[in-house]
Amino acid sequence: MRNPLILASLLAASLLLSFGCGGGGGEAEKTASIPAGPHPIILLDIGTLRADHLGAYGYSRPTSPNIDRLASESVLFEWAFSQAPTTAPSQASIFTGIYPSSHRMIEEGSRLVDEATTLAEALAERGYATAAFVDGGYLSPGFGLEQGFAFYDNNQGGGLAAIGPKALEWMRKNASGNFLLLIHTYDVHTPYDPPEPHRSLFLQGLAAATEGFEPTAEAMEAVRESFHSGTPRPLAAADLEYAKALYDGGIHYVDAWIGEFLDVLRETGLAKRATIVLFSDHGEEFQEHGSVVHEKLHTTVTRVPLLVRLPGGASAGRVEPIVEMIDLMPTLLDLAGAPLPAHVQGESLIPLIRGEGRPPYIAFSESPLLGEQRAVALGGYRMILSKDLHATRLYNLMEDPLELKDIAGDEPDRSEVMLRHLRSWEEKVELFSFEGGDSAAVGAETLEQLRSLGYVQ
Ligand SMILES: [Zn+2]
Repeated sequence: MRNPLILASLLAASLLLSFGCGGGGGEAEKTASIPAGPHPIILLDIGTLRADHLGAYGYSRPTSPNIDRLASESVLFEWAFSQAPTTAPSQASIFTGIYPSSHRMIEEGSRLVDEATTLAEALAERGYATAAFVDGGYLSPGFGLEQGFAFYDNNQGGGLAAIGPKALEWMRKNASGNFLLLIHTYDVHTPYDPPEPHRSLFLQGLAAATEGFEPTAEAMEAVRESFHSGTPRPLAAADLEYAKALYDGGIHYVDAWIGEFLDVLRETGLAKRATIVLFSDHGEEFQEHGSVVHEKLHTTVTRVPLLVRLPGGASAGRVEPIVEMIDLMPTLLDLAGAPLPAHVQGESLIPLIRGEGRPPYIAFSESPLLGEQRAVALGGYRMILSKDLHATRLYNLMEDPLELKDIAGDEPDRSEVMLRHLRSWEEKVELFSFEGGDSAAVGAETLEQLRSLGYVQ
């Protein structure tokens, strides 16, 4: 057994390290200029959007000129981690501020229990009007994420082509009120098939893909499943580049709509009054770690964009410490002056935005897939654990943000500290969880859409 004194001092060192994830620590320079609330809140929930495929997060392709413009007026969280690699548990964590092991909307087809208090319920209680325009799938009514929305418009895979005009009209009509508006889309999700001119935008100069290959949900799911069989069938290099270019075209398509959204924001005066949040439930893997789509806990899948544009663009800047998506709900309730419901496990990011944050800055992700995966990010490092496979990997996030080089063997002491954090987190989530696990009752149309997204066999 390791010397407990050494371990204790390492733990202290890691807490210190965790203060600035990169060392720049720009948050301390921010002023406390957050306008007094309550403000209208607009959530742009762009499913499957990888942080590092946006210009604002350093991507080389020009996928996101309008999101980058929004980012320049926002508090941009450099290292925001989703709590799960798949839609249902991750979205449920975002909307309840609770880890998946505690809210229990984990298994495929399970519903969020009524006992959980959602962001929409908490704000409705506070007198907010609540409205949502969603793209179906796990946000279809019946899965429980609709709790608290007085108006819930489900578009079942229609994407922003269906949702966009209705959401903008809703904003124009309700611009003077106090409201929570959720706009959610699967446009970036498989199939990677955006409309022209976005589709062709990043295809130029690529080697020819295999004739007939298209990155449909079925094709990508077949590749993903092959990695778990004895005979992996990874995409050939040209097909992989083709799939990525179409995924990026999908981001550009969503970004173009965000340009329209920003215009309406200014036209209606909501740019001055409202808080706008852009985020995703998870990213997407392109064979960086022997997989595609989203199932692993690597940064490709769990590092998500998080932009919080405060009214008038107050406090805009980049925040480097690690944060979790379960922190979003407490942050928005803090802004609204609303009390935190019992059982919320996230913490308000307002102190961090004000430059008054307190370490440790730590983030946990989890999934029952692939042998019970767990991940912890702390102090510029990240550990990923597969419980059933007894495999532990450690990465230096600053030098290796894609987590390609496992350094667990080189840093046994740090690995042990990270493991201790994971164990105490497990104890914490075991202390409280909802009963959960109920199956959602949803219609045939929803099941058909989930099939087309690759979720249901
Ligand atoms: Zn998703």
